[in-house]
Amino acid sequence: MKICRFNDNRLGLIEGDEIVDVTPALEAIPPMRYPAPLGDQLVANWAAVMAKVAAMKGAAPRQALAGVKLLPPVGNPTKIINAPINYVKHIQESNADPGIKHGRTTITHISDWGLFLKATSSLVGFGDEVKLLYPERRNDHELELAVVIGKQGKNIPRQKAREYILGYAMGLDMTTRGKELLSWRKSGDSYALLGPWLTTADEIADPNALDLELKVNGATRQKANTCDLVYNVDRLIEYASDKYTLYPGDVILTGTPEGVGPVVPGDVMQLYIAGLGHAEVKIAGAYAGPPAREP
Ligand code: MN
Repeated sequence: MKICRFNDNRLGLIEGDEIVDVTPALEAIPPMRYPAPLGDQLVANWAAVMAKVAAMKGAAPRQALAGVKLLPPVGNPTKIINAPINYVKHIQESNADPGIKHGRTTITHISDWGLFLKATSSLVGFGDEVKLLYPERRNDHELELAVVIGKQGKNIPRQKAREYILGYAMGLDMTTRGKELLSWRKSGDSYALLGPWLTTADEIADPNALDLELKVNGATRQKANTCDLVYNVDRLIEYASDKYTLYPGDVILTGTPEGVGPVVPGDVMQLYIAGLGHAEVKIAGAYAGPPAREP
């Protein structure tokens, strides 16, 4: 099953080139009072919502997928967890390229770096454009397999990790290169992208064996397979949940393979991960960066 959010927070079921509008199924989510519980409430109430979806989809209105604005398939993750340096060839290119390394000591292994977080406010869907934080500097694309957590968990052993996965999507970890901390360079508005929709885990036999490819303006930049992850999906869930409680809807971006490179205003990225769809994301052409301030 492929589920999307679109336009003004509508819920859709993807069927071929069409969206079945199943928004009324969201009424299965109980009303909330302050403070809202941690976790995305669509994911937390997934079974109840999907029961309504199944009951109503035959008579629900349909529209062309091409005409809608896609939102991130998860609206309210508590965190977007990111794996740095999680493909060997990306580690090698990072050490070889001063434009990535920026004077850091040798880039080594994910066990030395741990994981990092992107702000949930940085999250957009593929219907949005990326607005470059520092238009005058190098901003790179990083295509990554994204895992969406289905239920709360802590200290999850890798052998049980799949029980906690609701599904998968394509993720883009947009990155300004430079000397600043990761949470500054990678976490501004529109620097975390998730889409085009959520594909439920039952449709993906092995997340650790998926082809992925990113092109910029039609030219291939990144082409790899998740079989080359240093910490695979199961190990990442174990690693993350040893420190962070995972909540429904939390997103794990599993790291980018080799081939990262700069994008500039007006560029269009073509994204593909096997089983998760094809999509395009544009770098906004008009944004001139924030206003000048006193240092
Ligand atoms: Mn990344």
